[in-house]
This record gives sequence, structure tokens and C-alpha cells, in this order.
Amino acid sequence: MDLDQALQDRLDFGLVCCLYANNRTHRCVQGCRFLAPWWQWRPRYLHNDLPWQFLIQYNNQLSKLDLYTLQNTHTNIPKLQAGKMGAQFWAAYVPCDTQGKDAVKRTLEQIDVVHRMCDDYPDVFDFAETVEAVSLISDIERAFNNSKIASLIGVEGGHSIDNSLATLRTFYKLGVRYMTVSHSCNTPWVDNWIVDTGSDNADNNGLSDFGKIVIKEMNRLGMIVDLSHVSVKTMRDALDVSTAPVIFSHSSAYAVCKHARNVPDDLLRVVKEKRGLVMINFYNDYVTCNQKANLSDVADHFDYIKKVAGIESVGFGGLPVGLGDVSTYPDLVAELLRRNWTSQELHDALAGNFLRVFREVEQNLASTRADDTVLEYEKIKTSCHTSYGYEYEENAAVRQHLGLGLLLLCLLLSLIH
Ligand SMILES: [Zn+2]
Repeated sequence: MDLDQALQDRLDFGLVCCLYANNRTHRCVQGCRFLAPWWQWRPRYLHNDLPWQFLIQYNNQLSKLDLYTLQNTHTNIPKLQAGKMGAQFWAAYVPCDTQGKDAVKRTLEQIDVVHRMCDDYPDVFDFAETVEAVSLISDIERAFNNSKIASLIGVEGGHSIDNSLATLRTFYKLGVRYMTVSHSCNTPWVDNWIVDTGSDNADNNGLSDFGKIVIKEMNRLGMIVDLSHVSVKTMRDALDVSTAPVIFSHSSAYAVCKHARNVPDDLLRVVKEKRGLVMINFYNDYVTCNQKANLSDVADHFDYIKKVAGIESVGFGGLPVGLGDVSTYPDLVAELLRRNWTSQELHDALAGNFLRVFREVEQNLASTRADDTVLEYEKIKTSCHTSYGYEYEENAAVRQHLGLGLLLLCLLLSLIH
């Protein structure tokens, strides 16, 4: 089945239904649920946090659960199948307090649990089987053809790579296809959004030189750069350095709600220029900057970002927290239709723009040599890190100094004699 056609069919069905969403007839609400696959795999922060639930509820012991009957999570197989999911980004998220400790081990464990889930339910999930040059788009098409769920992985937070490009590349080989550059903490190479509230120091003034190398290496690999959660200076630096379109997986417009997690106007214009995507967040704090928000408030962000960054840079980026359950999505679509959004614009915002960014990121990947830059040892030094590799460099420097000292001593002695 052609992906775009399948997408169009589903969206058209959903949109026709949503035109009548105000009536709220049973048939209409049922029909609107056809939108679920596209609402769910793109928004929800672009990812599904089921692996995190596996960890905190089952310590990743999949043998203790049945994904067909699992009840205490948002996701189980019947729900995924009812939604006719075509693709899913499984989040390999670990909190900031793992930084400098076991962040890499924890992230690998979350990647492993996704792989094991796919192995345990091979009739449902279709993970990238070949390591090299796996295309997201072809994965989704393959899954559509096999009626399975294409499974890819996103890492939410640069602390997960523990300052190592080798770790970044290995994550890619294990199926990681996007990384949120920071979560809510600075790393030795990137500043996070809390810097803009004054509660964190601007340790790196945005992206350090090494941080810029991380972005370039992500471009080279074909890994998507996600700028939700970073400081404004980091946004600016990354937009400047990245040769591929970037995404904000769950952020809104700063001009509408002055929250540091949102994107300011000047950068919305750069996003437009660089063909990036702002996937609008539904969280109350980021929509109205207070505890209350309604769908009209959310629609204001859609209108605003469309006006400033263009329709090609608008996406849906989160569950409607505080706005009801997933069934409120069709109401939002109906609201946007009332605001004269065309069905083509809604198609683009729902999925077309997202797929376009992925295509361009994959087209941009380069077969150049991997970057072997390492961060200075002083910046990564903790009681959990050894200094292998760095020791030789330090010793070589000492040897060089000693050699020079001896040479000078010999010269001095020869002059005396
Ligand atoms: Zn987040």
C-alpha cells in the first residue's frame, strides 16, 4: 500500500467526520477514532513512553507482563491495533540524575527492552532488521505492507550519550533515529531551557564547539535533531549548524505564551527558512502560561505558528494534557477547520510535514568519515569515569616536556665545559 495514499485515505475519512464533530453522534465519534494512528505516532511528544513504564513498573522484566492484556499503561497491543498504528517511536528515556553515572547503561537497557518487546511479539512489531542505511520511510512502508508497526527509537536527552560520539553512533546502529539534544539539564556541551529562566547557568553559551560537532555527526548519520528542551541560544546555534531540518517535538509559540520551553518569533522565521518543524505542545503551562487552557487557546498557537513559520513548519506535538483525552483531537481539527484551515493544510500538519522532514534528514546523511573528536577529560571527569586514552596523551605531553628539559640541560652543560 502506498504510504501517502493510505495516509490521505485515513485523514480524509477522519476530516469528513470531524466536519460534523460538533454533533457528537456515536457514528461520528467512532469515525473520528480513525485519526488515532496519526494522532498517536506523531504527537505524544513524538514518542511512546511505554519502555519507561516497563522499567518503573516491571524493572524491564517483560516475562512478567502480557502486552495483550496490560491495563495500567496508555499502550497495549489491542489499543495499538485498534488505532491501526503504522509506526511508533519508542522512547529510550532516562532521567537527568543518571548523568555522569549510569546514563549510557540505563539508555542501553531501554533500547534493549524495545528490541526484546519486538522479539516477543514478532507478529505485531517490525523492527529495523538491517543495521546500515535503514530508512525510516521504507520501514514505515514495509510495516504498512505487512500490517505491522514499524518500530524505531528516540533518545530524549543528550546526557544519554555521556559526551561520546562513539555512543551516539552506536545508538544509531541500535535503531535510534532522533535525539532531543538536551532534557531538563545542561551537559558539558549543551545548555537546556532552564538556563533561560535564570535557574541554571549558561555553562556552554548554547552549544559548545563539541556540541556543534554532535549536531554535525547527527546530520552525517541521518539522525533527527530535536530542539525541544534546549535554551534559546542552543536553538540558534543548532539551527545555524545543522545542515538538515530540525524539529521541536513538543514546543509552542513564545509570543502567545512567554514560557522558556516555547519558540520565539525570530527563531520561528529561521525554522521556516531551514524547513524545520514545530510540533505544538498541548500542555497547559506552555499554552496559556497558567493552569487553564482550552482547545481555542491551543488553536491560537497553531494559527500563530502557521502565520509566522508557514504551514510547512506546523505539526502536532503532544497529548492534550488537561484538555480531556485523545477524543478531543477531532474537536481541535474541527476548530482549525472553523478557522479556515484547508484539508491539505491539516494533512500537512498531521503527518505530511513530519514525513517530509524525515525524508530530508535521510537525504542529507553523508557517507563521510566518522568524527573522532573527544571532549577534554577535565570536562567529563567524575568518579565513574576512567581516563584510558587520555592518560597516554597526558604522558606523551609529560615525555615531551621532559625531553625538552633534558635537551636544554645538555646544551647548558656543553656551554659550561
Ligand atoms: Zn519533554
